[in-house]
Amino acid sequence: MILHELSANNIKEKLIKREISAQEVVEDLFEKIYLNEPSVKAYLCLDKEGALLKAREIDEKLSSGAKVGLLAGIPVAIKDNICTSGIKTTCASRMLENFVPPYDAFVVKRIKEEDAIIIGKTNLDEFAMGSSNENSAFHVTRNPWNTDYIPGGSGGGSAAAVTADMAFMALGSDTGGSIRQPSAFCGNVGCKPTYGRVSRYGLVAFASSLDQIGSITKNVYDAALLLQVVSGYDGYDSTSANIGVPDYISGINSVSGNLRIGVPREFFGDGLNTEVANAVTNALEIYKKNGAELVDLSLPHCGYAVATYYIIATAEASSNLARYDGVRYGHRSQLSEDNIIDMYCRVRAEGFGSEVKRRILLGNYVLSAGFYDAYYLKASKVRSLIKGDFEDAFNKVDCIISPTCPSPAFKIGEKITDPLEMYLSDIYTIPANLVGIPGISIPCGFTTTGLPIGMQIMGKHFEEEKILKVAKLFENETDFHLKKPELI
Ligand code: GLN
Repeated sequence: MILHELSANNIKEKLIKREISAQEVVEDLFEKIYLNEPSVKAYLCLDKEGALLKAREIDEKLSSGAKVGLLAGIPVAIKDNICTSGIKTTCASRMLENFVPPYDAFVVKRIKEEDAIIIGKTNLDEFAMGSSNENSAFHVTRNPWNTDYIPGGSGGGSAAAVTADMAFMALGSDTGGSIRQPSAFCGNVGCKPTYGRVSRYGLVAFASSLDQIGSITKNVYDAALLLQVVSGYDGYDSTSANIGVPDYISGINSVSGNLRIGVPREFFGDGLNTEVANAVTNALEIYKKNGAELVDLSLPHCGYAVATYYIIATAEASSNLARYDGVRYGHRSQLSEDNIIDMYCRVRAEGFGSEVKRRILLGNYVLSAGFYDAYYLKASKVRSLIKGDFEDAFNKVDCIISPTCPSPAFKIGEKITDPLEMYLSDIYTIPANLVGIPGISIPCGFTTTGLPIGMQIMGKHFEEEKILKVAKLFENETDFHLKKPELI
């Protein structure tokens, strides 16, 4: 039996039945990591010792008959912008190259309490700014389906690790698509929950009104499992919603009532790759065959979503990243300066990469006196109009289905010199962040060249349960999620 190819839930079941031990799972997984990691490079750091220690603890619990947690013995990878006590959290930036957090993020604490095994920290675009992983200060992660291609970003490390069977599940963050887009490019299930559903305590802030932690998994059931554990109120995050968390797992196979699926015209227009369009159209037919009604919709202001996002996200980033001054923590230049302003300038010039600097400049510009009304305020107004589009849509439908991205994964280097072209790869994922609604990307096909294609399901605020069920319905009818890349 090849353990690393199993789903997270399969692993847990086998452990509980005592067919395998947690130590075997970890040993098997690390063998796979040592084999695939040189070509994929999904991780920034690995913690085999810590993983084996936790595995032993779980095996002891199981043999003594003690109760184990919901994620018992499941090896999980963590995006490297989520704080892990005692393990470096670099945000793939020189600025935080040696930062070891003294505390765990809420989500890390929760998965540990439920007996998950943390295996390592995954690569990302620096401070989660990017769509291809090429902005990491350390190295580029490669798409396991074809290592000449990017895995998506910013959470390409987490997605590539799950796809290459180097992790059973992963945590990511999604500010404009960083869970869903890499999941689509790597053929995983990636879920961004409602803003406020999962605490961001311990997530290094990028754009606070958009950032959301979520899951990257091999199938929908595993997504439900991980979300069940990390969802819920946390007093340490002032945006955390004090709303009960339903049982995502038990009813996952039952879509209740007559499902009405919204199909937004604007998401199927110019710029959409034909193979992606065909795969999503075929997927919609599968829903129709299963009794769903497809409703043609318009989300008229979504054409402004990317522009709106890049004003709001950069404004918030410029403010959040002001804390990296080389004094409180982070990179400190070896060269001394005569005054504190020159010291700040040197620290930030050396510590940040070019995309981060571009965003800080843009953000400061749109917030500056004289330009605030024309840019930031205007963008906030357009954001309200986009919210209105979705409110109208959800009066008519249960969920909205679209492609996750306008194209499949692109080649390493293809878009790196053209930031605007790169920004457009998030055109379908950004609206959910601006509105705060949940979205999940699931595999719905492959291109003729063998790259995965993702389909996005968006739901009303706090209706993760519904989109998980809608996703599961499709998964039950297809086998795209079971396909594996031919790595070693
Ligand atoms: N690609 C988008 C950006 O660069 C989204 C990133 C994210 O979701 N963290 O801003």
